[in-house]
Amino acid sequence: MKTSLAELHVLIADDSSAQRQYAQQLCTDLGLITIHTAANGIEALKILQENTIDVALVDLEMPIMDGVELIHSIAHHKLSTNVIIVSAKDPILISSVGTMAEADGLTVLGTFKKPLHLDMLQCSLLRFIVDLQTQGTKLAEAKLAAIPPLFTGLELNHAITHGEIILAYQPKLTVQGLLLRGVEALARWQHPEKGLISPTIFIPMAERLGLINALTHTLMTMAMNEKKKWQLIGLRFNLAFNLSPLSLADEGLVDWVVTLTKKYDVLPQEITFEITENALLNELACAIRTLARLRLKGFNIAIDDYGTGFANAQQLSRVPATELKLDRSLVHNVSTRPQQRTILASSIELAKNLKMLSVAEGVETLEDYKVILELGADQVQGFYFSKPLYPDACKRSTNYTLLIRTFFY
Ligand code: C2E
Ligand code: CA
Ligand code: CA
Repeated sequence: MKTSLAELHVLIADDSSAQRQYAQQLCTDLGLITIHTAANGIEALKILQENTIDVALVDLEMPIMDGVELIHSIAHHKLSTNVIIVSAKDPILISSVGTMAEADGLTVLGTFKKPLHLDMLQCSLLRFIVDLQTQGTKLAEAKLAAIPPLFTGLELNHAITHGEIILAYQPKLTVQGLLLRGVEALARWQHPEKGLISPTIFIPMAERLGLINALTHTLMTMAMNEKKKWQLIGLRFNLAFNLSPLSLADEGLVDWVVTLTKKYDVLPQEITFEITENALLNELACAIRTLARLRLKGFNIAIDDYGTGFANAQQLSRVPATELKLDRSLVHNVSTRPQQRTILASSIELAKNLKMLSVAEGVETLEDYKVILELGADQVQGFYFSKPLYPDACKRSTNYTLLIRTFFY
């Protein structure tokens, strides 16, 4: 089993030599050693037939054989099992090719509109390793090797135990009336030398290095402590917390969370655990078991980033979720994209039918907010209303939402 990015064998298929070199450089920066490149589908197939490729990075627009045909051939001839799809085309097209690839039996590690960014690529490739480990005999036995880090495991461990990782809280507001209903806790690493590090970088690293449970425990304790302080000054709103799919495999999680909430005098009904749609696709029995137990104890469950994965209504209905968070890719610019509007509308409808709260994420403009208001989602979250705030600013955010209401009505 491969345990580090350095061991991955990748193929980059892109007709533009500049784009190929760029993607190759990103892979090199991430420490990959075996990187094959192809300028078209035919060349790519030849390489795939002659080598063992773990992950194929496929551009959709290529001459001779386009990316759609290439992906279909990869699946049909079982030449690789994992793909990352990149294109300059509309994200909806890219994601529909992703759906096709999943239907063909491939694992889609990511679908991205160009330009590809280092952190996106890193997350996708790390997912391959994490998936392998999850599928492996026992998580605990998975060998944890050093990966080409922006920082080391020791540094990350030190950060967790010395309070360098903190939480910012982003308001979740009712669509009608813009009342504060909750906040989502988002982790940030205040690195003493490297500055603020994004969770999209250090969460996959923590997962990879076996530090995710320690990090989750530290952050959740921090969040409960904060919620208790808010309650003491009369602020009662929901607190949403992101859970790694790996935490769901932690058998002790539910009892630990129950004890923690009791200790801080927090009601389970006021806590929501967010779990990404893709994490649920693996349909790990233990993940569903943990989620069901959390629900039984009264906690809420949100399906996060809905629209980026390929879950269908039936798969969604199997998860004991109370909330559907509609991903930014469905929300951003919806006011100018009729097709996207249709998808957003049907996702809101789906949430209604499944009796789930619908929350539109990543709202950045008044125009997009107006569409969401018209389509009847329940809650909104996004930079247009508020960026994630540090706790002191959060206390003032109830006033802030009052200000927004005054502005609109
Ligand atoms: P997420 O759960 O989807 O969180 C929303 C992300 O979108 C946050 O990024 C937030 O700052 C950003 N965002 C909010 N509104 C807007 C907007 O209007 N426009 C744009 N462009 N972005 C917006 P952030 O804080 O970088 O977090 C990224 C991801 O890292 C989160 O995505 C979540 O999956 C993960 N994450 C964050 N904190 C934790 C944590 O404590 N535990 C775990 N397991 N994952 C976490
Ligand atoms: Ca989230
Ligand atoms: Ca999300």
